[in-house]
Parts: sequence; C-alpha cells; structure tokens
Amino acid sequence: MTSEIICVGTELLMGNVVNTNASYMAKGLAGLGISCCYQSVVGDNESRLKEILELARKRSDTVILTGGLGPTADDLTKETAASVMGLELELDEKAWEKIRKFFEKRKLKLTDNNKKQAMVPKGSKVLYNKNGTAPGIIASDDEACVILLPGPPGELIPMWEEQVVPYLKEISSEAFYSEMVKICGMGESMIETELKDLIDNQTNPTIATYARAGEVDIRIMARGESEKEAHKLVKPVVKEIKKRFGSSIFTTDEKVTLEEAVLQLLNENKLTLATAESLTGGMLSSRLINVPGASDVIKTGFITYSNKSKKKYLGVKRSTLDKFGAVSEQCAKEMVKGCLSAAKADVAVSLTGYAGPDGGGEADPVGTTYIGVNVSGEITVKRYVFSGERLKIREAATAAALTQIRQCLLENLTERTFGEKE
Ligand code: ATP
Repeated sequence: MTSEIICVGTELLMGNVVNTNASYMAKGLAGLGISCCYQSVVGDNESRLKEILELARKRSDTVILTGGLGPTADDLTKETAASVMGLELELDEKAWEKIRKFFEKRKLKLTDNNKKQAMVPKGSKVLYNKNGTAPGIIASDDEACVILLPGPPGELIPMWEEQVVPYLKEISSEAFYSEMVKICGMGESMIETELKDLIDNQTNPTIATYARAGEVDIRIMARGESEKEAHKLVKPVVKEIKKRFGSSIFTTDEKVTLEEAVLQLLNENKLTLATAESLTGGMLSSRLINVPGASDVIKTGFITYSNKSKKKYLGVKRSTLDKFGAVSEQCAKEMVKGCLSAAKADVAVSLTGYAGPDGGGEADPVGTTYIGVNVSGEITVKRYVFSGERLKIREAATAAALTQIRQCLLENLTERTFGEKE
C-alpha cells in the first residue's frame, strides 16, 4: 500500500508553524510498513488543494490530509475533498452532539459556523474528536482512501493512535512488525559499520538507522502474512544487534527517551541526582524534569553560568579559575564535587564549555566541553569537542551528559552497593 501526506495551512507555507504533523505521521506510516511516497504542503486555497488532492488520489492508495477542518470560511479541506470525490456533505448527529457538549462544558457560545464542523461526506467513517471539535473523516472510493485529520497536534496525535492506526492496519494487505533499538554514545557511521553485513543482506526484515543529538535509533522491520510471522523474522535480528551493542543500548522501547532511561536507572537504584550547568543553562535539567515522576530523582539544579556563581554555589576555587579557566577539566571536577555536597545528592553532573560563537582558542576550540559525573564521591571528567552552532553544541552536550551519567552508573553499580535513600 502506498500513501502520501498533504498538510493544509497557509501558516505552514509561510513558515510560521513548523510542520510537525508531517513528520509525526510519516514516522507512524514507516512503523506500519506503509510507504509514504510524497509529502506536500498547500495553503488554504481551494483550487490548489483540489489540484494536489486529484493528483494524490491518482498516484497513492491512501491520502492523508491534516488541517483546515475548522469552523471558519478559510477551513475548506473537507468541502474540497468531498467535491473532488463527488460526495455530498450531510450532518452527522453524533458529531454535532459532541460539538454542542464541548461548548456547553466550557460555557462557550455556539455559532452557526460550528455546525459546519459536524458536516461529513456521505458514507464516510467519522473519527470522533475527544480533544477538540473537528471530527476526522475517512472516505474511500475506487480510486483511493482519503483520511482527513485536524491540524492541532494535540487533537491529531490521539486520533492517529487510537483510530487511524487500527484502521490502517485493518486495510493493509500485509502485516508488519517493527522494533526499535536505541543506542547512545556511538556515532551513526560507527553503528552502520558494525551493522554493515546485516544491512547489506537485508530484504525482510529491513534495518534503518536514524541519528539525533547523541543517540542513534535502529529500526528493524519485517513484513509477513500475520504480525506473528513478521515478529518471528524481527526477533533474531534484534537479538544479534543486542549482542553487538551490549550496554550502549539504552532501550528497546520505541517510546522511551534517553532521559527516561537515565531516570529509571537512578530510580531503580534509589539514587538522587543534582545538576550543575554552565553552557547548557538548564537544558539538561529541563529534559529530565520533562519526564513524569522526575521528582523522585532530581534534587537540585544549579545554573552556574558566571565564574562568580561557580564559586558561590559550587565552591569552585578562585585559583582553579585563574589557573585553568572555567572551561577546564579541573573546573568541571570542582563543579561536580561542590554540586553533590551542596545538594546532598547521590549522583551529580556538571557541564562547562564553549557554546560559541565566541570563546575558545586553538587548544580548546568552540564546542569544547568538559562533563563531570560524581557518583557518591567517585568523579569522572570527560572532554568533548562538539561541532555546529550554539544550539547544536548545547544539545549535543546535554545528550552527552545523559550518556555519561548512564555509563558511570553502569560501571559503579556493578562495583558497589549504595546506601539507602534518605
Ligand atoms: P481547528 O479545528 O482547531 O480550526 P483545523 O483542523 O482547522 O483545526 P488548522 O486551522 O489548519 O486546523 O490549524 C490549527 C492549528 O493547528 C495551527 O494554527 C497550528 O498551530 C496547528 N497545525 C496545523 N497544521 C499543523 C501541522 N501540519 N503541523 C503542526 N501543527 C499544525
């Protein structure tokens, strides 16, 4: 089955809204083994939308559109799709009832154009919206299956997961099964080299790698007559990949992030964590605190950007700063030592570096970062040189800190037993 995505909205064309829906759905389709052959963005313009939809219906089995299902006059996705498919619009009583309740609950006044959102193409399947007013729609004919979804990601994502994915699985002639292996602390090219023999011989299952700051994800996907059969094909490959990458694998659960894996490791061992950040300015603690339940683990976060604050809050010595500078192994070491004792945590991490564009020198260019990890007094400091512009360096440093915490914990946990949490 082939598919394509059309995102509707002038705000997307103008660059005011980043097209996260396309990337989200494309990943979802890949996970289902459905080829996504085209992605388009079109403004709120009836004739251009008509043109792209007619073309898409000819060349793809399933066409998924997002956006333009709202109540206003410029929301014309549904009307255009119905006209292209030669379908009349009719009121869906259940959708109308849900819209009325949505407004009642929020004490909002219903306007005439809200009824427009409850109009659906005759004979279509309605996807009711728990998080907004616009229902999604699936309309099929001999040419293609057209799926219309609301634009706001908060409405689209649950509808996709709960209603679109089961539908797509149902209409797919083949079953697919995929697993994801996530690796930290190794570059994509090194991983691909290690996997070369498996990748070169791949047909079913297929192996694909995706790199992001500090981490590489490997997707192993197989086709089969049933999901069980596809699972059987994936299993030995995942086993082999696990054997090759060992403890560099932080999860095999697609949904688990690196920060979640680190927090889980700390939590399982009843350890608390404190952070002392200079160049990342809270980015590390923000990634960690984004995970529900982080409060069981995170004690304190220091943002010690200036030398003064490094001395005041972390006890970094003036002589260290004078002699070695703030971006140095010695400073990272004193930062992480001071952080652990000031926060009374079991584990601490420190980051200091040149995020650029200024700073650094020949010996320590922009991107040079020292990361310290202190596991109950045992300190490890590592030097990194990240490339790219300021944000990229800060993101890479954050990911490296998470990886380093994990590595230090794994090493330490095998060697000693920690005291009980207070
Ligand atoms: P509503 O019922 O809320 O009017 P809609 O289906 O008409 O939704 P739009 O009006 O096109 O959707 O978009 C509403 C908002 O949803 C946009 O302002 C934007 O914030 C978000 N949005 C729309 N399309 C996308 C997209 N492709 N990626 C990310 N966000 C999007």
